[in-house]
Amino acid sequence: MKTLTVSVVTPDGPVMEEDFEMVSCKSETGELGILPGHIPLVAPLSISAVRLKSDNDTKRLSVNGGFMEVRPDKVTILAQTAEKPSDINVQRAEEAKARAERRLQSKQDDIDFQRAELALKRALNRLNIGG
Ligand code: ATP
Repeated sequence: MKTLTVSVVTPDGPVMEEDFEMVSCKSETGELGILPGHIPLVAPLSISAVRLKSDNDTKRLSVNGGFMEVRPDKVTILAQTAEKPSDINVQRAEEAKARAERRLQSKQDDIDFQRAELALKRALNRLNIGG
């Protein structure tokens, strides 16, 4: 089976570089399934799971923001944050979720709802992958 190299990088440094048979991501315009030989493209990523399929296994990463760059033999994911399931602190994500939900339910005028919604999405994504 043909493979492509997937490289995931955040501002904190590289998260992984490995070969996979298929990469599935959620861009802001919908789901993308990338196989080796795909035409080059650049797409913005949403707060979502990246699924990395190899021979007998599928790995998942939680990503938040950034872009994916696709070339026929390589996918580069440049994300604001990216975590493997084992690196996700579930308690921290639970706390972030509770904090965001509290803010969204608050009636105070000084709450930045868009910011709270994004924080909630990040927490739910981490819980979905690591929890
Ligand atoms: P929090 O409010 O808990 O900081 P956040 O969604 O605001 O959550 P981010 O700004 O997305 O956090 O991430 C900041 C850094 O902390 C990144 O390096 C990210 O990978 C890491 N991080 C955030 N939440 C978790 C978590 N639950 N487990 C592991 N690492 C996390």
